[in-house]
Amino acid sequence: MIHNFNAGPSILPKEVFQQASEAVIEYNNSGLSILEMGHRTPEFTAIMEEARFLVKELMNLDDHHKVLFLHGGASTQFMQVPMNLLDPKDSVAYADTGVWSSKAIKEAKLFGKVDVVCSSKEKNYSFIPNDFAVPNDAKYFHLTTNNTIYGTQWQSIPKTSNVLVADMSSDIFSRQLNFNDFGLIYAGAQKNMGPAGVNMVVVNENILGKVKHPIPTIMDYRNHIAEESMLNTPPVFAVYVCMLTLRWLKNLGGIKAIEKINEYKATLLYNEIDSNELFTTHVNKSDRSKMNVCFAVNNPAHEKQFLDYASTNGIVGIKGHRLSGAFRASLYNALPISSVEFLVEIMRSFKQSIA
Ligand SMILES: *Cc1c(COP(=O)(O)O)cnc(C)c1O
Repeated sequence: MIHNFNAGPSILPKEVFQQASEAVIEYNNSGLSILEMGHRTPEFTAIMEEARFLVKELMNLDDHHKVLFLHGGASTQFMQVPMNLLDPKDSVAYADTGVWSSKAIKEAKLFGKVDVVCSSKEKNYSFIPNDFAVPNDAKYFHLTTNNTIYGTQWQSIPKTSNVLVADMSSDIFSRQLNFNDFGLIYAGAQKNMGPAGVNMVVVNENILGKVKHPIPTIMDYRNHIAEESMLNTPPVFAVYVCMLTLRWLKNLGGIKAIEKINEYKATLLYNEIDSNELFTTHVNKSDRSKMNVCFAVNNPAHEKQFLDYASTNGIVGIKGHRLSGAFRASLYNALPISSVEFLVEIMRSFKQSIA
């Protein structure tokens, strides 16, 4: 039995793998594999429509918020967001809470004046800043809601009058937020909604069309809205698997239901880290991520021992990112409670195994 704590690409529901693999052989008695069907066929158009509809329903979006499935991963959005929203004279505000934020900042600087209004860099990104102001004239305020590598998460979204833009790659669909408050949300699928190769963007159409410079056709969100994510060939299989995952989430009771499960899983693991004297975490307590739990051993000699012990027992993917070290257990939506219970058991029995 394998317990998959990978940070991304990461675990998806078993039943989604089952359905997706059947569709590779033959989609819905069509005589064709999903991989050899045209993207403008009624079959695929229906898949794209259902995916979009499920996102709207699960996130409770109003009609101004449009759902797009695009190529390129979240990293493309680091560039596409400012390209659509900024002119060179404009200024914009970013929160620097980790590697992904700082990569987004670097790209935004190509398009306008970037004001980094807060940063937790000097403490190795171990906390979420709370004492900062966003200038009124900032065209938007960008934040990374969950810091996949450092294990911190904004527990509440700061109130500002600016347009809010969020990279939600690693906590999309994991907790309830008022998604209509955001001007733009983007997420690479491979953390919590599907396979790698597709990017979801939710954008309020009212924030678009304000810049004076030309935007390349394929980069302009308005064209993707007009063509319903079919401006060019979409990543059909990745969109299909996302749709299946969204269906799974809806059947489970939606974001409200999964949020409870996610809270339970995170509490189980953090309680063990706090109470087991072999383990520790450097993440500020009130900023702990419920998706990516970063932790370490108190005695460096135990680090490799614990990794070996865990992997012998079927635990996969808990080696920490090279920048934050030690261990990281990702508790995405599809990870069953039983896997977290098992990890906790292993942390307890590790004590005995080295005694
Ligand atoms: C993984 C990740 C990214 C990068 O995603 P790609 O799809 O590899 O471009 C960006 N932001 C966050 C928060 C991530 O977790």
